[in-house]
Amino acid sequence: MEIMASVGSDMYSLAEKLFPICRSITGEGVRQSLRILQEYIPLEIHEVPSGTPVFDWTVPPEWNIRDAWIKGPNGETIVDFKCNNLHILQYSIPIHQVFELEDLKKHLFTLPDQPDLIPYRTSYYQQNWGFCLAHHELQRLSEGSYEVYIDASLEEGSLTYGELYLPGESTQEVLLSAHICHPSLANDNLSGISLLTFLAQCMLGQKNRYSYRFLFIPGTIGSITWLALNEPKVQNIQHGLVASLLGDAGGFTYKRSRRGDAEIDKVAEYVLKHSGHPYQVFDFFPYGYDERQFCSPGFNLPVGNLTRSPFGGYPEYHTSGDNLQLIQAQYLNDSFDIYHQIIKILEHNNYYKNLNPKCEPQLGKRGLYDAIGGDSDQKKLQMAMLWILNFSDGNYSLLDISERAELPFYLILKMSKVLIEYELIA
Ligand code: ZN
Repeated sequence: MEIMASVGSDMYSLAEKLFPICRSITGEGVRQSLRILQEYIPLEIHEVPSGTPVFDWTVPPEWNIRDAWIKGPNGETIVDFKCNNLHILQYSIPIHQVFELEDLKKHLFTLPDQPDLIPYRTSYYQQNWGFCLAHHELQRLSEGSYEVYIDASLEEGSLTYGELYLPGESTQEVLLSAHICHPSLANDNLSGISLLTFLAQCMLGQKNRYSYRFLFIPGTIGSITWLALNEPKVQNIQHGLVASLLGDAGGFTYKRSRRGDAEIDKVAEYVLKHSGHPYQVFDFFPYGYDERQFCSPGFNLPVGNLTRSPFGGYPEYHTSGDNLQLIQAQYLNDSFDIYHQIIKILEHNNYYKNLNPKCEPQLGKRGLYDAIGGDSDQKKLQMAMLWILNFSDGNYSLLDISERAELPFYLILKMSKVLIEYELIA
């Protein structure tokens, strides 16, 4: 798994390409986005019909929007969906009607505390229509009649999601998931999509120990749908991460799985601890992204959420300020590197057994000291050898031993390979 030096800028370019598309939990915007991802990775696109029952939920009707605007008393366009797709309340029903300002205002959403930004709002499960705009624009509106036009459709169709399964040596899986349901929002949505696309691309054609499943799904309803339709596969999921908020300038945030002590939790924290970046770790809480579904008590999967800024934890979150200026190639690059390191450790974090556990094996006799004699890390490798031999009883992973010995994982890994070769562990 070699990292391309330019992966951050490639990720940024993909985010740029996807940014203008109006995505939602269903509809053409999602299909169009997934087709763009297919230019990078052999993604399978699944369609689940509206009305399909998925646990306590039902796959909603498909929403598509073509045009939406408001014209003021003088006939001038005051809000135009074509200028910014955040202007439309997602899942708005079609309408073409004239309203007095007072009645129109019931359908206008603004952020009085951030008067220059357009909020991102949805009404998936309650029929409504509405527009979102900057608060200072709202304040400028004068009394009079406003013509409202929304050319949208809400009809039987399907929920669309993308999936890429990369088989490894084992059928045990690593699940990597990103939500794809937000329109023009860069950090919350596109950064995660972009990161997983390039991570998948980098692992394609590699020999991996684990199988990898990449999901590009609409938030909440997408993970519920996938879990409901793929329940027999769930038992194979050994580790997982939900990817989002990976392009902003914030330090890293790891939200543990509900289990709290899963291997993914240990590995993610280990990588962050040694990354040189500022980071924070939280225990699981039942709001946030799709880890809510993966970690619901009936599944309780070992799935964490690794972001930069925490969920909802930056001022531009769910506003027009979460745009291509908020994310940067260098931050995407660093995030990619963290994910990549986590995968690398998962791939190599084995549990071994000492084949000569009764007292120490006589290392000199076996030529073990000579085997590491010329290495610049010779002293540390000798220590690593003792730690691995003692703790390889099947209960400690190489990462556990690395933490306990306070020796870098790569060194423990290197020594474990020597000990395997000398038939001292297996
Ligand atoms: Zn969001």
